[in-house]
Amino acid sequence: MPDSSSLKRLGLSDFIALDLETTGLDSSKEQIIEIGAIKFVDGKPQDRFNSLVLPSIRIPKFITDLTGISNEDVKDAPEIEDILPEFIEYCGNYPLVAHNSPFDMGFLRVWAAKIEASASSSTLKPESYFKNDVYDTALLSRIFFWWVTNHKLVTLADYFKLDPSDAHRASSDAERSGLLFLKIIDRMYDSSYQTLSSLAILFEGTNNSAGKIFKQLTELIAGSELKEGSELLPDHEHVLGDNVIGKSMPVQFEAAPKLNLIDPKEVKAKFEVGGELSHDLKGYEERPQQENMAFAVADAFNSEKFLAIEAGTGVGKTLAYLVPSIMWAHENRAGGQRVVISTRTKNLQDQLFNKDIPFLYRSLKIPFKAVLLKGRNNYICLTRYHQLLSDSSNSMTASERINFAPMITWIKHTKTGDIEENHGFNRNRSFLLWNKLSADSGKCNRMRCKQYNGCYLGKVRESAGTADVLVVNHSLLLSDAVSNNQVLNEYQNLVVDEAHNLEKDAWQFLGEELSVWKIKNSLSALHDKENVSGGVADKFARIIPQIDAIPNSDTLLSILDRIIVGSELAESKSVELFSELNKSPEWVPEIRSNYVSKIRYEAGDMFFNSVSGRINDLITTLFSIKDSVKEFLEVARELSFNNKEADELSVEMLSAYESLGQMIRLSEELFDPSKEDQVYWVELPSKADSIDVRLHSVPLNMADTLNEVLYSGLRSAVFTSATLTTAGDFSHFLERTGVGKDEAERLVTLEVGSPFNYDEQCNIGIMNFLPPPNADNFNEDAIELISAISEKLQLGGLILFTSYNMMNRFYEKLEPLYKKLGLSLLGQKKDGSRYSLQEKLKKDRGSLLLGTESFWEGIDVPGRALEMLVITKLPFAVPTEPIILAIEDSLKKEGKNAFMNFSLPEAIIKFRQGFGRLIRSKTDKGIVLLLDNRLSQKQYGKSFLKSLPTGVKILNSKKEAVEWAQGIKL
Ligand code: SF4
Repeated sequence: MPDSSSLKRLGLSDFIALDLETTGLDSSKEQIIEIGAIKFVDGKPQDRFNSLVLPSIRIPKFITDLTGISNEDVKDAPEIEDILPEFIEYCGNYPLVAHNSPFDMGFLRVWAAKIEASASSSTLKPESYFKNDVYDTALLSRIFFWWVTNHKLVTLADYFKLDPSDAHRASSDAERSGLLFLKIIDRMYDSSYQTLSSLAILFEGTNNSAGKIFKQLTELIAGSELKEGSELLPDHEHVLGDNVIGKSMPVQFEAAPKLNLIDPKEVKAKFEVGGELSHDLKGYEERPQQENMAFAVADAFNSEKFLAIEAGTGVGKTLAYLVPSIMWAHENRAGGQRVVISTRTKNLQDQLFNKDIPFLYRSLKIPFKAVLLKGRNNYICLTRYHQLLSDSSNSMTASERINFAPMITWIKHTKTGDIEENHGFNRNRSFLLWNKLSADSGKCNRMRCKQYNGCYLGKVRESAGTADVLVVNHSLLLSDAVSNNQVLNEYQNLVVDEAHNLEKDAWQFLGEELSVWKIKNSLSALHDKENVSGGVADKFARIIPQIDAIPNSDTLLSILDRIIVGSELAESKSVELFSELNKSPEWVPEIRSNYVSKIRYEAGDMFFNSVSGRINDLITTLFSIKDSVKEFLEVARELSFNNKEADELSVEMLSAYESLGQMIRLSEELFDPSKEDQVYWVELPSKADSIDVRLHSVPLNMADTLNEVLYSGLRSAVFTSATLTTAGDFSHFLERTGVGKDEAERLVTLEVGSPFNYDEQCNIGIMNFLPPPNADNFNEDAIELISAISEKLQLGGLILFTSYNMMNRFYEKLEPLYKKLGLSLLGQKKDGSRYSLQEKLKKDRGSLLLGTESFWEGIDVPGRALEMLVITKLPFAVPTEPIILAIEDSLKKEGKNAFMNFSLPEAIIKFRQGFGRLIRSKTDKGIVLLLDNRLSQKQYGKSFLKSLPTGVKILNSKKEAVEWAQGIKL
């Protein structure tokens, strides 16, 4: 913590940390229900101010749940009119500190103004309240502790061990903000001159008080009154990743190389007792399934096969494919036989790159190089970073400058330039700023940028070119596949992990989308009136008059003028079009819901009739801009600017031209759904006055598409997951993804099973006595059952739902019981992020986690923290999803049963994923409650049961079910 002289230097010997609790987020409608504050003197918490406040509106239940403050609690509290003047006096002129201070200060200022306006004799005058310096610890922690996974007060309090009990009450949160502020000051003192001076320049004119501190510290260092800090990162944290492991070995590539086969037995032996892995792997245990998988993968590389392999939970499949991949690439380096490994989730990618590959690099003693490569939009562009920073007041708005600040502290340390490392920067919230900063292809002037070989993107791509093993995600794999391998270059061997979702990922990454935002973004590359430096046409219009060598600048300026005027026109036309489209009479009111509605459209539908004039108008305008850009580029080419800046802008202009062409193509295709092999749908926002309408299309036959863009040209490929089969059959996976479709003779399928003894480790009961899940009394009866079992057994558990509605009902009803039991009830989107919920489930014994959709996969909680799994309903896909509807229609047209051929196997795979959450290690034990009685009462229920690794018990009454659960020895 900073000493008193460090605080004094900054005028922070005394400051007040404050926090409010309110009835909601909107300061114009909601009210304050608690004020908590604490004065820090010389860095020590001393004088407290704490008061509940009586609002004139009811406190909503979710606020009571969150804060513990009920209507009963505040009934005798003073009203805001009485307490706020007292609080203003308490604050005086002291610096104020709050976490997310704009929220608290917004409420305080709004309510002070209301009091002032309503009472003529009020002592509150605008000039007399809250003119203090205000420091926002959320912002400052994002800048100085960018590596902490999120910047919520509760997470930071946990990270710095600032006594996280009683979170969400004003007084304790105020104290934590104050203590956090002291940690931040410490870190500021430890910063370098360069960092502080860059921050000081960035904050100039932003009205943010932090700018004062940056300036003061910069001046102190410049005047040698203070030594600059080292800015070292905490060594106990793994805050930075690397994207290269190992080095490339010198190699003479051969034109017609002879491939060296690897010995599958030798590969297998590495996993056996006495093999390299058995010596080096912590907690090693022999797993025949893993050995068999490694053997099969090696064989697939040798014999040019397409291997679909299901490896049950606990096999250790990543090592089983990594070892042969590394050996194959190593043996065949001269033949350029590298292996691309693709994962779906970041968790798995992290596991591969931060754990498994470094381990194998040490253990196998084979020299190899592995590279982790992501899409270019993940990397920061150094050229653009420096350009923005050097002209920050012109190139960014005040709020963008503040959001830019975590870049300054992060860029000093990053080795990869991968923005995912920087948790202080919110890429989604600051997407416009990130558009200005990322190594996006439209803006990367690689031919002329001297940085390229030293820039993050350039370095990693160069490294990728010589990698033996290249790790990517499905997004990059698939987008690269449709762009003729522009990023990954040619590769012959592919491993796709988490392959059970390959078709769904292909829907996402091989699909197309058109929205007003996409059009605006494309136009803003040419002309941007919201950005001081503008788009490329604006920049050209500025510099052309300054280039003496241009003989006929008037011609160029008049073309630019057409481009600028045309861009403004096209933007307003696109806004009008999408606004009108959202009001189209074809969208019958019942289609709209509180959520985004997805509606499929086909050739002949009337959806676009009412706006057809506007569509044509927009497309014509886009064409005319494109023609002007072409004309400009042609004139410019003839003139040859002989000016570095103009030459660079020409490259940007060319990329804007291509992007415009892309928008025209998308507009023509998505407003005219004539392709029979595409599925089209529109997403309507919940609000009728929004312009956020999105048009989508994806290829209907993904099997053929994947064959064409991804598999053709591959020498060998491995597709793996814990759930590729339904009742032991691979057909569904193979049919949907097209694996082996074109070359059946090269296809091999294999199930290696799981090393777990499910008969011993797991008891499954079907609650046959419950009503069907769609019956009115299902929720009530099911909740009663869960309550009874929870009360008796208090097991750590996970309940999987297929809808938020049902989840919320369960949460509401189970909450009093869990409160009474003193156990945590954790709800998705209620009690923290997915990661923090999983961590809480691990930490708080006996807690129960409730989750939907994404919780059916990827939750990994071994041991006693998760001993009860409840599956409420069979996870059939939503029958109104446009892609699902289109697939079902197409199957029907082929004379197939859509339910048996698509919906059922899809649901079984998801059901198996959900089931897989329970047993995560050989010592885990647990019970599974299957609440959906269709499993025992419908014919198709048998298909689900056949896909489980052990038998089930059918339970015919609540009493029987509770006794059964009680009788299981865990
Ligand atoms: S090469 Fe491209 S991404 Fe790299 S610094 Fe230059 S412009 Fe940026």
